[in-house]
Amino acid sequence: MGHPHAAALVHHGLYALQHRGQESAGITACNQEGTELVTHRGTGLLSDVFSGYDLNCLQGEMAIGHVRYSTTGESSLLNAQPLVVQIDGHSVALGHNGNLVNAAALRRKLETEGSIFQTSSDTEVIAHLTARAGEEGIGERLRAALRQVRGAYGLVFLTPKALYAARDPHGLRPLCLGHIEGAWMVASETCALDAVGAQFEREVKPGEFLYIGQDQMHSSGLGPESCRCTPCIFEHIYFARPDSKIGARNAHQIRKKMGQILAREHPIAADLVSGVPDSSLSAASGYAEEAGLPYEMSLVRNRYVGRTFIQPGDELRRLAVRLKFNPLEKVVQGRRLILVDDSVVRGTTSRALIQLLREAGAEEIHLRITSPPYRHPCYYGINTSCRSQLIAAGRSVGETGTLLGADSLRYLSIEGTAAAAGGTVEQFCTACFSGEYPVPVAEAGGSRS
Ligand code: SF4
Repeated sequence: MGHPHAAALVHHGLYALQHRGQESAGITACNQEGTELVTHRGTGLLSDVFSGYDLNCLQGEMAIGHVRYSTTGESSLLNAQPLVVQIDGHSVALGHNGNLVNAAALRRKLETEGSIFQTSSDTEVIAHLTARAGEEGIGERLRAALRQVRGAYGLVFLTPKALYAARDPHGLRPLCLGHIEGAWMVASETCALDAVGAQFEREVKPGEFLYIGQDQMHSSGLGPESCRCTPCIFEHIYFARPDSKIGARNAHQIRKKMGQILAREHPIAADLVSGVPDSSLSAASGYAEEAGLPYEMSLVRNRYVGRTFIQPGDELRRLAVRLKFNPLEKVVQGRRLILVDDSVVRGTTSRALIQLLREAGAEEIHLRITSPPYRHPCYYGINTSCRSQLIAAGRSVGETGTLLGADSLRYLSIEGTAAAAGGTVEQFCTACFSGEYPVPVAEAGGSRS
């Protein structure tokens, strides 16, 4: 907000956030005169969606952008964000990271009252609630809308006059604030600020509502009730880019600590330690350091096979894993290997990797996971199947290890995970491990498990 090349900065920032979503990308900018919003969106990676020409069409000093990973609503151009709607004859644009657990109920109610939805995404519910709110001024109407939604969100909202940003009261999804050359910038992770040379100011607080106008920024609470702050622990384990700051440390340091604690909790005699690239390399280096074992690369990842390539169905997924990873035979042949990974969700990738490493001659493969068993679906913005598809659900650790084909399988304790993330278990959302959801998910739960 307030930068002559706002859309170009957003574009750079989105590149840094590409790991958070690869299904679609979009930017909305406010024109030079501050009267109209211009949007460009498309499906696929940012590089597929934007040409230099597209970016040149996005002029002005205010812009928001989004890369999408679908949770509610299918992956289609219609659901690509920013979502642009008309409210009282003015264009407004929304970008939302997260998932609303009461979106279906709110949508049914709004439709009964005459609202016509254009998309199947939960984000549109916020737009309709804003349009219907009786408060004075768009900011107050948005705030009234957010008081009705439950769940997880990091939200940016652009009008021709101002930018608004909000984080859900539990802080489930991350949002940070920075500045560059007198302009304010908000982003899901600090790596987006780094990518454009912006200075990190602070994290947006859970339940905080920011107004950023031409001349000032104003912070207030969504209110009225206050909630227990429970940020998603999976940001620390997997989602955030290793160079992004979470609290006082970056995700790399946190994951290294997870690896160290895991080595203390579950040591085993082995010849080398290796991590599943790229997400588990930090944790594997921590495990190796603590165990006093050599750290080696055992798998090479093809960086040009993205998530978008991964096909539905177990057999196609196994083939995709083969295309994505290749084992280093000379490293693993005849060796006892500790393979560190951040999580096991369905188990398809882990099983295929263990098979690949065995075929390459590994003598023993001991799988070490830097999080507890993933036994419950996430309803707050991470699309992790229904419970029946989660390999650890309803199985003992030994049974899961056997199914994966590992010589042994051990998980980091929930206390160890939280300690590495810099807190206690109660200070985080750990629902996918414990089933204790900080925001009730009765409605969403009924449709998923
Ligand atoms: S359920 Fe798991 S993935 Fe979802 S917000 Fe909570 S900790 Fe994060």
